Amino acid sequence: KLELRGVVKRFGDVTVCDGIDLDVEEGQMVCLIGASGGGKSTLLRCINLLEPIEDGAILLDGEDVSVPGLDPQRVRSRIGMVFQSFNLFPHMTALENAMLAPRRVKGKSREEVRPEVEALFTRFGLADRMDKYPDQLSGGQQQRVAIVRALAMKPDVMLFDEITSALDPQLVGEVLDVLLQLKAEGMTMVLATHEMEFARQAADKVCFLKDGKIIEEGPPSEIFNAPKRAETRAFLERAL
Ligand code: ATP
Ligand code: MG
Repeated sequence: KLELRGVVKRFGDVTVCDGIDLDVEEGQMVCLIGASGGGKSTLLRCINLLEPIEDGAILLDGEDVSVPGLDPQRVRSRIGMVFQSFNLFPHMTALENAMLAPRRVKGKSREEVRPEVEALFTRFGLADRMDKYPDQLSGGQQQRVAIVRALAMKPDVMLFDEITSALDPQLVGEVLDVLLQLKAEGMTMVLATHEMEFARQAADKVCFLKDGKIIEEGPPSEIFNAPKRAETRAFLERAL
C-alpha cells in the first residue's frame, strides 16, 4: 500500500505539488489525469524519490520512505518507474538491459538473474525479442522491454508516466495490454495518462490534478460520468 500525506513540492517559489493526499491500496490501479502542467509527472517523480519533497510523507506499507537519509536506490527497487521515453541502453540487448539493475543494485549474479528475467520476457510475450538491441525493436516493444526492466527489480509498486505518449497509435494497445496483465496479476500501480478511455475502463480510482492539487477523485464511473467539479467537467469536455 502506498500513501501520500500532504506532499508538497516546490520549484523556487512555484508550488507544483500542493499538499497531495493519496491512498493506493494493494493491487489498485490509480490514474492521474489533468491538463498539462498540473503536476502529474512531478508527483510520480516525488514518489520515486527523483525529486526531494518540501513537506509531507510518502509511506510504503506504512514505512516513511521520504525521510532524509534513506538510500534512494533501495526505495526505488521497491517502486519501479517507466517513462514516456523508453531510455533503454542502445548498446545492450533487451535481456542485458533488463538484467542490469538487479545485478548492480541487488548485487546478484548473471546466473541468478537470468532465469527470472527470461521468465518476465516470456510472461509478456517478448521471449523472441530478448536478444535484440533497442534499435531492432518497435517502439511498442521497446516500451514493453522498459516495463520488464522495471519489473526485474520485483517492485511492490509501479509508476507509469505517459508511457504510451511517444508511440504510434497502432502500438499503444500492446503496451496498455501489459498494464492490464499487470493489474490482473495484482500489481499496485499509479499512472499519469492522457488515455482517458483506458482510465475509464481499467482504473480503480481516477484523480484529477490541477495546479498541484487533487481537486476531485473517485471511481471512473463517477469521474467520467458524473464529475462534481466544474474544473473536472471542463477538462473532460476538452479531453474526451
Ligand atoms: P503534462 O501533462 O504536460 O505531462 P504534468 O501534469 O506532468 O504535465 P509536470 O511536468 O509535473 O506536469 O509540471 C508541473 C509544473 O512544474 C509545471 O508548471 C512545470 O513547468 C513545473 N516543473 C516541472 N519540473 C520542473 C523543474 N525541474 N524546474 C522547474 N519547474 C518545473
Ligand atoms: Mg507529465
